[in-house]
Amino acid sequence: MKSGESLVREQYRGGGYRYAISPASLREKGISRPARLASNENPFGPSPAAVKAISRAASQVHRYPDMEALFLVSAINEHFGVSDSVVGVGMDGVIETILRVFIAPGDRVVISVPTFSYYRLAAECLSAEVVPVMREDDFAVDPGAFIDAARGSKVSFLCTPNNPTGTVTPVETVEEILNGIDGMLFLDNAYGEFSRIDYTSLMRKYRNLIIGRTFSKVYGLAGARVGFAFVPPWFVPCYETAATPFALSIISAAAARAALSDREHTEKTVLQVRQWIRKISEECRYPVLPTGANFILIDVSPMTGDVCAELLASKGVLVRSCSSFPGLPDHYIRVNIGADWENELFLEAVETL
Ligand SMILES: *Cc1c(COP(=O)(O)O)cnc(C)c1O
Repeated sequence: MKSGESLVREQYRGGGYRYAISPASLREKGISRPARLASNENPFGPSPAAVKAISRAASQVHRYPDMEALFLVSAINEHFGVSDSVVGVGMDGVIETILRVFIAPGDRVVISVPTFSYYRLAAECLSAEVVPVMREDDFAVDPGAFIDAARGSKVSFLCTPNNPTGTVTPVETVEEILNGIDGMLFLDNAYGEFSRIDYTSLMRKYRNLIIGRTFSKVYGLAGARVGFAFVPPWFVPCYETAATPFALSIISAAAARAALSDREHTEKTVLQVRQWIRKISEECRYPVLPTGANFILIDVSPMTGDVCAELLASKGVLVRSCSSFPGLPDHYIRVNIGADWENELFLEAVETL
């Protein structure tokens, strides 16, 4: 029988991203409603305004999207007080399109690690040369080391607050890096709403900075897949040329626009996160690292992250083992702030380990 299997490029063999422990696998073990603290989602769900916008948009899905993405871009520019932004299918989709603009096979992409894995995956798909640069022992970014590594690279990635460590990089450090590099800096600010640090003022001074944002976290729209980025003005037409046509659905664009206007929902979420981070940091038996995001990194040694996540799952609490993050020792778990009952269940479960 003929098969195209041998033609598959090296980087696409094997499986893609999987949840280590899925809610579905717990259901088989009789746990029907686990605390879901593994994916940094909004425990309060989507904004009711977004749900309403989705049902309104539903009657238009026989049409290709027309002006919806542009309307969303205008709403984003106005909301955040920036001059130019782009949108895509999750921030992941935005990252993919941005890399397509710059990266040819063999080009260098620098990534500050340990961090979010998708930068590396997206860069490797374009046959880039990926160069990791380690954070310091406390996970702070050493700007000198970053600048040295970024010499000759077209795009560099820095995540702040960083996933999975929660570490916030000060504006001054980012500025020092921008002054030292010649390529593009992609600053991933997926958790920006939780940290109160605003990097957008740097956009006015630096034309090689892109700031990535998402509707998946504080806005509670992870399933709608909408991401965006603040970009320099010259970049907009390049992005539009590289982007997949009609990538953002009418439904997702409508949901995002509505979510943006519901400040009550995002404020309630940020408040929940702040209160519980304080409480869990005080009460958890294991060391909790400082965080600017809606999750915390916990050092569970002498357990490994994998063992700890399995034990917690058996008690109905889903957390993320961090053993798969290159550059991070294997004794960490990442736990996001959930609804009250979920956080309480987590604290109880940790006590019994
Ligand atoms: C969640 C997340 C994203 C993007 O998520 P999308 O759902 O693709 O928008 C990007 N970067 C980091 C660090 C994240 O944690």
